[in-house]
Amino acid sequence: MTGIMERISKKRTKNEAKMTKPGTEWKNVNVIYDINKHLNGFLWCQGELTKGKSKVSWDNVCKPKEQGGLGIKDLKLWNEVLLVKQLWNVISKKNTLWVKWVNSENLKGKSIWEVNAKANSSVGWKEILKLRDKIRKHVIWKIRDGNSINAWYDNWNTGGPLCEIVTTREIYDAGLSIDTTVAELIVMGEGKWPEGWENAYHILNLYNLSRLQEGKKDDIFWVDKSGHERVFGTKYVWKDLCCSSPRVDWHKIVWFSKCIPRHSFIVSLAIQNRLNTQDRIAIWKPNDIIQCVFCKKCLDSIEHLFFSCNFSKEVWREMQKTLNVNMAFSWGNTVEELLVYYIWQERNKRIFKEDRRDEKTMVQIIKEAIRLKLAGLEVKDSRTIKEVEDRWSVQFQIRKNRSVR
Ligand SMILES: [Zn+2]
Repeated sequence: MTGIMERISKKRTKNEAKMTKPGTEWKNVNVIYDINKHLNGFLWCQGELTKGKSKVSWDNVCKPKEQGGLGIKDLKLWNEVLLVKQLWNVISKKNTLWVKWVNSENLKGKSIWEVNAKANSSVGWKEILKLRDKIRKHVIWKIRDGNSINAWYDNWNTGGPLCEIVTTREIYDAGLSIDTTVAELIVMGEGKWPEGWENAYHILNLYNLSRLQEGKKDDIFWVDKSGHERVFGTKYVWKDLCCSSPRVDWHKIVWFSKCIPRHSFIVSLAIQNRLNTQDRIAIWKPNDIIQCVFCKKCLDSIEHLFFSCNFSKEVWREMQKTLNVNMAFSWGNTVEELLVYYIWQERNKRIFKEDRRDEKTMVQIIKEAIRLKLAGLEVKDSRTIKEVEDRWSVQFQIRKNRSVR
């Protein structure tokens, strides 16, 4: 990991040097691309990423575990979420120095929804403006005194912003202006729409021109995908901007509590049929195939390697004999993952290093891994735990009972 961070920091230094040149600016997107490239390389090659080594696309790796990914944060999306936070500060008119600066330099009295990016605008500001369409449906104002809400550009009722149905010409013809607030609209129109508008635009009947609540500041909420109104938080933005994929039914089998991530990772690839077994290699390299390294009877495949091959069957059988004990907690998944992990490791050792470990040695290695795993667990003291300790020659960390006050 140190290597990765060194490479990233070298790249950053280069980019920082570029920033000092006139006319060049910091490009977050490039930095994110570089970091993702190094993370991707670390995951699949433990170093520089080489062609054809990624077994799962980076987009899929960044999905939550429930959707079949590894739950790694997608930095591009995370950058967007943080930019949305800045945008939200402007929309909600937060009292900060930066928002005041944006109002005086970039908005100059216009609504954030109305302005266009200029050619000489900063990259950051352009990126923020690009996100407006993505989040507009998530912003809703609740009228209190009506002074903070622009009548035309802000969302203050379920029908969407009024600027989408009323033209600027009609606004001026009614004696109103682009800056009219909801408070002004309701007072000026005495709780009614300008004459003829309701007949011209039937959607206006959806708007509730409720009575204003003097002295109470307008509220603004983030409407999430399910329609719930939330006090703004980046966790909701993250969830709503994430492209969600269907849930996979195997994630709990693979990513259970106390799993060993290295083993779960290999099992998740096996379940998705992403391990480079010979049946897969045969599709794109028909002349470059070998027989199963254990039995030499057929090509290896996920099914053959982990379940049908005599070598694996023998390892499973031996382990099952050991597991015929009444255990106090569920750790069957740990054992299965260990078996898959070590069988895959042995298969690769035999192909690439010509090392061989027989079934008995494999069982010993797996038992030792289980023993180490058990030694790290904190458990409640019980008779069953004592039995497990004796059987596995291991000493658990016994959880102390909390004192009752
Ligand atoms: Zn075999």
